[in-house]
Amino acid sequence: MFERGTIHDILGDLVVYRNLEPADERLRSPQLPPLPPPQSWGGKRGGVPRKAEPAYAQAVLRILGQAQALRSDQRLQRLIYIGDTAMNDGQAIRNLGQHLPVYGFIGHERLEESKRIEIEDGIMLANRWAALVDFVHFLQGEGFAFDEATAVLVDLDKTAFGARGRNSQAIDAARVEAVRRTVEEVLGANFNEAEFRVAYDELNQPPYHPFTADNQDYLAYICLMVGGGVYDFSQLLTDLEARRLSSFAQFVEACAERPIGDELAPVHREVYTNFRRGDPTPFKSFRYREYEETVRRMDCLPDDAGEEKVLAEEIVITREVAEVCRFLKGKGVLLFGLTDKPDESSTPRPELAQKGYLPLHRVTMKVVGNSILRVEACPEPSRRVGS
Ligand SMILES: [Mg+2]
Repeated sequence: MFERGTIHDILGDLVVYRNLEPADERLRSPQLPPLPPPQSWGGKRGGVPRKAEPAYAQAVLRILGQAQALRSDQRLQRLIYIGDTAMNDGQAIRNLGQHLPVYGFIGHERLEESKRIEIEDGIMLANRWAALVDFVHFLQGEGFAFDEATAVLVDLDKTAFGARGRNSQAIDAARVEAVRRTVEEVLGANFNEAEFRVAYDELNQPPYHPFTADNQDYLAYICLMVGGGVYDFSQLLTDLEARRLSSFAQFVEACAERPIGDELAPVHREVYTNFRRGDPTPFKSFRYREYEETVRRMDCLPDDAGEEKVLAEEIVITREVAEVCRFLKGKGVLLFGLTDKPDESSTPRPELAQKGYLPLHRVTMKVVGNSILRVEACPEPSRRVGS
């Protein structure tokens, strides 16, 4: 039997998705100093800041301050951050460190390698999620206090669920299927699956990130315009190669100047309008499908499916992260979840909410991973884990 639970069991509604709107209504209580609207958090493109921007750290600290005020008169004095990407989460940790002392853990699973742990400037990078126990010991060795003046920020996407390197392919599969369905539904009988795969797989690779900004909304739109014959695929590759085309903005404008068929026109208009407004999630209808595909992969297999199949096909809660959170909560630490995952792919739109669909942090998932930490067995500070 698999254990099951929700992120809500661990964090409550103390989570923010990409729009930095706390799910917990209590943070908007009139008894607390009001939070500014998310658009005025000072993001680079005039919108909500993204994770790696300094303004993101400031916004998160304001929201954390509200969460802390709900439960304590003490101000937060130190932070812990648990994430999965050295670039984005690492930068967020460094930005938070400009305001409060912070220690970070960046995990991914690479079982084909021997276990490796590196610590640099208070950030532990590990190729095992189970190394979270080493992280706890490291903090204890540093004399870091786990108490009411401490908060832990937990990344959700590919950390608290869909652990990177272990279960993250299930999250990616939901996204690819959402792109495929979007393109298929728009193009109808003109949809060519094989051509779609070729274009998507090619452009989803890192060398194309300067063009796609590694933004799946952009990629979905590009696949649609290619599949719909607005921009020929081999011409696109040639134009990129020759640097006649280098940014997504140029691509959207180029498409806007071409004849676009009736079936493609509404989605083109949606993306074009939102993109020009500076919305980082311009392809809403694709992201709604991504939400559906993501939820569909949560706790969908029977118990006798076995762990390997579950990890390959379902999105599950990372047991190691859940255990560390429970341990820290027991010490009085404030828990808060954050993710750059768009709200449109994380929360149900009203017609689905009416049918009982829930935001991702409230959806039941299996809990899979290594049991690393039993609160009563956690060693006292002494052992120092070096790099
Ligand atoms: Mg993540």
